[in-house]
Amino acid sequence: MQTKILYTVQDLRRVRISLNGTLGLAPTMGALHGGHLSLISRARAECDHVGVSIFVNPTQFGPGEDFSRYPRDLDRDLRLLEPLGVDVVWVPSPEEMYPGGFQTWVAVENVSAPLEGAYRPAHFRGVATVVAKLFNAFTPARAYFGQKDAQQVVVIKRMAKDLNFPVEIVVCPTVREPDGLAMSSRNSYLSGDARRAATVLYRALGAAKNQFDAGERNAGVLRATMLATVADEPLARADYVSAAEPDTLEELDRVREGTLLSLAVRIGKVRLIDNLILR
Ligand code: AMP
Repeated sequence: MQTKILYTVQDLRRVRISLNGTLGLAPTMGALHGGHLSLISRARAECDHVGVSIFVNPTQFGPGEDFSRYPRDLDRDLRLLEPLGVDVVWVPSPEEMYPGGFQTWVAVENVSAPLEGAYRPAHFRGVATVVAKLFNAFTPARAYFGQKDAQQVVVIKRMAKDLNFPVEIVVCPTVREPDGLAMSSRNSYLSGDARRAATVLYRALGAAKNQFDAGERNAGVLRATMLATVADEPLARADYVSAAEPDTLEELDRVREGTLLSLAVRIGKVRLIDNLILR
């Protein structure tokens, strides 16, 4: 099967209509890595057709964030996709996605507010809007997202439900480097000492999980453990640490099975996130 590379909404609609059966969509911002590939492989295994979008979505970046320097290498991405049996890759331009006069936004209110939303105020409005547009353009039966972006999953599930998108949201486990660092396109910003320091997110989550496994149920104690682990790493600064209810993202006093531990950490100018569900 020949992968079709498409650029316009019109071409995507035309090709989509010709595909019978279920379509699985994996939305990405490109700079593909093992995390993305796991979503695509899962879609390939579960659906008749697979669509991938590659779009660095300007509306989910804040002023002063890394939109302009975000890694972009379409040739490399297409080479990586070649062996995966993808039917359609859609690579819209910003003008195709947001033509002149664009003024319609999707705001998922409460679950967008804490954690990432508190540090990146318009981020989830941009995410929800672009994902709604991707759902309308691809009309997927299933859409594949990574647990790596835990709050994004909560926001997208809420949006799909609230707006009656006929799509099943499939959440795939976080894929990690051998030392525990969650794969991320932004890891390419890290080298040397910063790359080594970046394992602090996984170490902080692991330290809190160890306490949970040993019987600790006080959420404040687990948050303090994550903070202390990050504080021990000279190159790292925590934006937040959280032990929250996994569907509402409300901070808890007591943790239990299913609680979402998450954190955001800056290593110099590079901002990383990670999370773990207590089991
Ligand atoms: P991005 O290109 O960063 O917007 O990510 C596209 C999709 O890949 C999102 O659903 C992410 O949650 C998912 N993803 C990113 N990194 C990972 C990872 N390390 N493991 C699993 N999924 C990931």
